[in-house]
Amino acid sequence: MNRIEIIQGDITKQAVDAIVNAANCSLLGGGGVDGAIHRAAGPELLAECRTLHGCETGKAKITGGYLLPAKHVIHTPGPVWHGGGYGEEELLRSCYVSCLELAAENGCRTVDFPSISTGIYRFPLEKASRIAIAAIAEELKKHPELERVRMVCFDERTKACYDRALAESGAQG
Ligand code: ADP
Repeated sequence: MNRIEIIQGDITKQAVDAIVNAANCSLLGGGGVDGAIHRAAGPELLAECRTLHGCETGKAKITGGYLLPAKHVIHTPGPVWHGGGYGEEELLRSCYVSCLELAAENGCRTVDFPSISTGIYRFPLEKASRIAIAAIAEELKKHPELERVRMVCFDERTKACYDRALAESGAQG
């Protein structure tokens, strides 16, 4: 059974155990998917985030989902793309790994990711999609308790890119 899926949609609408937020290090909200998640979850999400005192790039922290259909939000600050010479690829990989480890530790079986860093943070999409799929496939091997991990892509171009990365990786999860 393939445990990795790519869909096009709005991550704030997904009723899964955890959705991932492409956050910034303050964890106090921002633009893009971060803003959408905070708007949909309501002010209690921000109140819980204030107690976390931020998060380093490539690491992850978990909160409740509040008004979202998802039970939890896993917040991970992705790397800002500065040309590739600043550890961006390893940091992006670390985001996916950290989120899935935290999901597994918290008993989450279904996890949805947005395309971390490929919006405001300008990480090249094709490279990001290959890193994401490889990291997810590797974590799924370590965690049989994770049932399904989806990439929830906001637009067609992003979905096509992740579809290609999944097909080329040969990963079945
Ligand atoms: P980053 O700062 O990590 O680059 P962005 O939020 O700017 O994060 O973009 C990350 C990706 O999330 C982009 O592909 C963007 O189109 C997408 N995105 C924005 N809103 C949503 C949403 N509601 N659901 C899923 N993906 C979204």
